[in-house]
Amino acid sequence: WTLGIATAPVPEERRLALTPELVAKYEQLGASIVLAKGAGLRAHWPDAAFEGVTWVDSPQAVFARADVVACVMPPTLDEIAAMRPGSVLVGALRPWASAQQIDALCAQRVTAFALELLPRITRAQPMDILSSQATVAGYEAALIAADHAPKFFPMLTFAAGTIRPAKVFVIGCGVAGLQAIATARRLGAMVEAYDVRPETREQVASLGAKFVDTGVVAVGAGGYARELTEAEQAQQTAVLSKAVAAADVVITTASVPGRPAPKIVTQEMLAAMRPGAVVVDLAAEQGGNVEGTVLGEKRWIGDVLVIGPAFIQSRMPVHASEMFAKNVWHFLAPHVQDGALAWQWEDEIVTATCITRDGALVNERVREWLG
Ligand code: NAD
Repeated sequence: WTLGIATAPVPEERRLALTPELVAKYEQLGASIVLAKGAGLRAHWPDAAFEGVTWVDSPQAVFARADVVACVMPPTLDEIAAMRPGSVLVGALRPWASAQQIDALCAQRVTAFALELLPRITRAQPMDILSSQATVAGYEAALIAADHAPKFFPMLTFAAGTIRPAKVFVIGCGVAGLQAIATARRLGAMVEAYDVRPETREQVASLGAKFVDTGVVAVGAGGYARELTEAEQAQQTAVLSKAVAAADVVITTASVPGRPAPKIVTQEMLAAMRPGAVVVDLAAEQGGNVEGTVLGEKRWIGDVLVIGPAFIQSRMPVHASEMFAKNVWHFLAPHVQDGALAWQWEDEIVTATCITRDGALVNERVREWLG
């Protein structure tokens, strides 16, 4: 079988769903790999790093040749139209975002697996792109904040006195938030954090940060957070206002599955922050946790710098690609037998992630999102 690795259709996306080391592992599974020339360059891998693969001249040719295409972001509609009927697309497909994408996949009779929809079960953890890429995002968010803050993160003593450590407040303690806390702590900041899921209290404490208690608990389906009622929101805002005002840096990561990001930091809260304070809003892509965030921009709102990073994983494309590519390998490997593809259709990992098959949308969650 032929595995094609997509070159992302925009240059800002620097990740690749393959690393040079994985080529041999795929060959052991009977795969031959097709790449477009220069596919790895954005992640600093020259073509020569990928031994034994087949090169084609254009990214679109990869789609036309492969039985399975792996991608780090949704392909263009033209690329989908180039795919062979019955071929497979696997990767980050943002299946909630585009009915046109679903139509194109159906028209081409492509079997598509959106890895964002993996069930959060133990067996699926090695394939979990949301967790691996959230780890990268959380780490980078802390570094972006440190880079833009007008203060040191650590406590320092110097010849004329002592510098107090920066105060960092992290809102949302899922995978990204916990990594942001850990990274800010490694840099020596004093960290406070908040989430609506009560189990995060212990996780926050174990990283040496202080949990801010608003009294709001909001756990919904599957143990994920749910949206807050108006009364809960008011209660949350009252407590968080104080924590935000005291912080030099706020990092927000809050998200509710299938919903726009909850607005948590209001314009009034921003106005009460110290001049020069920095806010990094990791939810910018889902609309933002902060009033006024613009995806891909740094903007001053009053005296506060609000940053809405786009393509944040592409700031460290080598390790982000390595994690993503290993996730994809772990997803595909169980479905190869004796060197040939053999999909285990009864596997819940397959049914949860499959969005289109035989020309039809087959995923209930996607149908709900797209209305
Ligand atoms: P996410 O990206 O969906 O959300 C980020 C965080 O925002 C979550 O912790 C959520 O509780 C929080 N949040 C939502 N609304 C909020 C609000 N109003 N105020 C404050 N915080 C708010 O989360 P995620 O990183 O994908 O992880 C979510 C859950 O999945 C966690 O329980 C995590 O432990 C679990 N998980 C399980 C596995 C597994 O395989 N077992 C893997 C990864 C994550």
